[in-house]
Amino acid sequence: MITFYPGPSKIYPEVAGYLQEAFESGLLSMNHRSKPFMDLLEATVSTLKYKLQIPDSYEVYFTSSATECWEIVAQSLVSHRSIHLFNGAFGQKWAEYTARLQPRVVPVGYGLNEQAEAFIPPHEEADLLCLTHNETSNGTALPDTTLNACRQAFKGLIAVDATSSMAGVALDWHQADVWFASVQKCFGLPSGMAVLVLSPGAMARAAEINEQNHYNSLLFLAANFRKNQTPYTPNILGIYLLGKIVSRIPPISMLHEITRKRAQDWYAFLETSRYPALVAEPAVRSATVITVEGPAPQIAGLKVFAQQQGIVLGNGYGAWKTTTFRIANFPAITDLEINTLKHCIEVFRTNFTV
Ligand SMILES: *Cc1c(COP(=O)(O)O)cnc(C)c1O
Repeated sequence: MITFYPGPSKIYPEVAGYLQEAFESGLLSMNHRSKPFMDLLEATVSTLKYKLQIPDSYEVYFTSSATECWEIVAQSLVSHRSIHLFNGAFGQKWAEYTARLQPRVVPVGYGLNEQAEAFIPPHEEADLLCLTHNETSNGTALPDTTLNACRQAFKGLIAVDATSSMAGVALDWHQADVWFASVQKCFGLPSGMAVLVLSPGAMARAAEINEQNHYNSLLFLAANFRKNQTPYTPNILGIYLLGKIVSRIPPISMLHEITRKRAQDWYAFLETSRYPALVAEPAVRSATVITVEGPAPQIAGLKVFAQQQGIVLGNGYGAWKTTTFRIANFPAITDLEINTLKHCIEVFRTNFTV
């Protein structure tokens, strides 16, 4: 089976061997306050920072999901008001989760082909701006120019959900204070863990707010991770696999080029096929999740046809459920698999009219 599902997604094949190695290493039965675990945690963070080119001054913690990171940000980093700019389901959910924890949320929706920076509302009290780097539900992404413009325009902290882009494309870390991603997307790993990246500014804000009521309060995470420990028994297997995978992948600048080139090829392919990209504006098209639009019966037909060839496509999401499908363009997917899917779409297009 070949999967283009955008999360959980294709796992790097090397993971099979790493699972066995993890078992044999004995680490999985080891106390998480022991030296071998602390060494594993330290080495994993350090390799991750090196491969993804995360600035030295930024800290990296592990949590269980991107959803948990939404809550950590809401609990530990907002003192007055948070603005949420979104154009799709994940960004909107983040705003909704935040509103349940702190009611002072300013949700701002914008259109699929629009650029987010034009929509920052003037709000004197706002001290956190939340953005979704790659909106997995519709295949849009924030161009670097948007992050740059937001950094110029907004004085408070900026938090970015990069769940479906981190480890697939290079991120301009200094343009935001909080970045996070779960590992079942571009990292090509089994689900159940997330990477949370924090600037010195974010840590200063956490200290100022001094929120300590939760098992995952940011200060509590910091106190533990700074000693190479974790507040609770962590996902040791997940940390082990992440460490192995980041040791193996090329530096992010190289991955970025590969992902960009493949995305360009996908969009060029779609121009000539009967099924256009959902996102018309090239500047906001995602490089890692490509959303393809078509009449509902043809989308349904193509998904069944692909399934018969052993190919799993991503379903449309929310409002675009029946009129789109999604193609993950994550690094674990091979050129051969991509060509197989392109061929499948071609065959369907030329032979079937539903
Ligand atoms: C997948 C995804 C999430 C949710 O990730 P979990 O690991 O299920 O919490 C959040 N945001 C974006 C943009 C996503 O793609």
